[in-house]
Amino acid sequence: MSFVILQSCCNDASCVAVCPVDCIHPTPAEAGFMRAEMLHIDPETCIDCGACVDECPVDAIRAEEDLLESDEEYLTLNADYFAVHPVQTDSAVPERKSWRKSDFSSLYVAVVGSGPAAFYAALDLQSRKVAGIEMFERLPMPYGLARFGVAPDHPSTKAVTDTFRSLGKKANFNLNLGVEVGQHISHAELLEHHDAVIYAVGASSDRRLDIAGEDLPGSHAATEFVAWYNGHPDYADRQFDLSGERAVIIGNGNVALDVARILLADPLSLASTDIAQHALVALRKSNIREVTVVGRRGVAQAAYANPEMLALLSMEDIEVVLAPDEVATDEVTQALLDSGDTESSVRAKVRFAQAAAGREPSGAGKRLVLRYKHSPTSIDGLEVVERVQLVRNRLELGSDGSVIAVPTDDVETLHADVVFRSVGYRGLPVPGLPFDDDRGVVPNVNGRVIDPVTRTPIPGVYATGWIKRGPTGVIGTNKKCAGETVDMLLQDYAAGTLRASRHPLNAIRELIHERSPDVLTFNDWNLIDRAEREAGKVAARPRVKFVDVKSMMDVVRAR
Ligand code: NAP
Repeated sequence: MSFVILQSCCNDASCVAVCPVDCIHPTPAEAGFMRAEMLHIDPETCIDCGACVDECPVDAIRAEEDLLESDEEYLTLNADYFAVHPVQTDSAVPERKSWRKSDFSSLYVAVVGSGPAAFYAALDLQSRKVAGIEMFERLPMPYGLARFGVAPDHPSTKAVTDTFRSLGKKANFNLNLGVEVGQHISHAELLEHHDAVIYAVGASSDRRLDIAGEDLPGSHAATEFVAWYNGHPDYADRQFDLSGERAVIIGNGNVALDVARILLADPLSLASTDIAQHALVALRKSNIREVTVVGRRGVAQAAYANPEMLALLSMEDIEVVLAPDEVATDEVTQALLDSGDTESSVRAKVRFAQAAAGREPSGAGKRLVLRYKHSPTSIDGLEVVERVQLVRNRLELGSDGSVIAVPTDDVETLHADVVFRSVGYRGLPVPGLPFDDDRGVVPNVNGRVIDPVTRTPIPGVYATGWIKRGPTGVIGTNKKCAGETVDMLLQDYAAGTLRASRHPLNAIRELIHERSPDVLTFNDWNLIDRAEREAGKVAARPRVKFVDVKSMMDVVRAR
């Protein structure tokens, strides 16, 4: 699927600014923009995230599958445009079309993980008509960060699971929930029973700041807070003391803005979402009135996405405060902006922040303070968090051309009742696989897992998603990422470089049932899913999530 721009296109390019993969052309920076009669979406680059649809002011963008017959001419117009203006790509991935003709009806693939990367890989394999896809997930529920990472007030983002659910009906797809690779089944056993194994296990830990006081009570990884409010069973019993008035968040990526929004949200507005019940209860009692988000570089380098910033700026009950001197463009950034190479989204970030810094105070009861060009040097307090020490940074151009933060002598103490360290997720080693500890990924080339010493591919072993490329990108980014990995796998299969033989699949199914008697299937998950949705109907919510494994097992056993 892709999206298609239709006749009512107004060429204001608001869609271009929100597209995470730059698939809409011509952009305002490209020659021909002023002469173009309309904009076009490159179906090869589009990740189906739908951000452009939400942003389009004239409702001109439709999913390809929803086109009316009378609209189909636009597919031709689109193809014609890209035939004349091919999108430049630096990918070394071979053309996918050549693999479509091969026969994969004897190919059995194991996919480890059940988040978006895993499901995009499985959907891609399904579309090539492989013999079997066996998915393994440690938890008794699927969907990974689509369930435990997406903020509860972003329900449309979660709708991606509807696409994934379609796999549950396919005869060649089998979901094994409650099976942990490394505990119930080893990597070697998986490989013995499948032609190939794709690891899509994500990045389940968090990066460290490596400063004093990081582990003081009251200093938390933002990733854990996110997992807690989203009802992840491993985090449901965590305690977050929200009795103070000021929270400080270190880092300014999309997770930081999610956490800030949830902390400042009116609990009434969250009561109609699928937020975990324990989090709703805690947030109702919260005294947090101000959240300060601290970014180490300038506005132009802020890690958050423009749509997330725009959403915050439009919240009427929250005052967004930015200091004019911190959002002023520094010399290094100005030179980059002047060079003309800068993405339109970066320019938009600067514009939004500078406009917001000039706004009159709204007098709203809660405040979100966005700080830039500051780094924490320590988190202090007698027994619990009381303060964060900050140092002001100046920006310099690094040797690789990136803008880096360099500390000055200008220091500041910021009072903090609770701290969230939101400096990114981090991948963990996978038992039986090599690991690149610096990057927190499984070493690979385009998804083929490699031996780090010989730098040669390990036959039959692949990676996709965050464990392949690190914790970057939005959910839809995993579609392209998985497509690349699946291409490598199919290419190897067609070339005969996978293992020569494998044990029958039945043998591994017996092993799994022996070692994990509570293994659940997609049908079992459907029962749990239905029970959550039914509980949600009673409470006027999309669902009420089960947050402990026993309650889920009770639903399945009561069938
Ligand atoms: P992120 O986007 O990588 O942001 C990490 C932040 O931490 C950056 O501001 C980074 O600054 C900062 N940082 C890193 N090390 C630091 C240090 N030592 N001291 C101070 N600051 C430090 O990570 P994230 O917010 O966890 O998000 C992970 C991924 O999930 C991203 O791709 C994000 O877009 C995605 N996500 C998307 C959504 C959404 O679409 N709504 C929601 C949640 C998450 P520098 O930039 O200077 O390194």
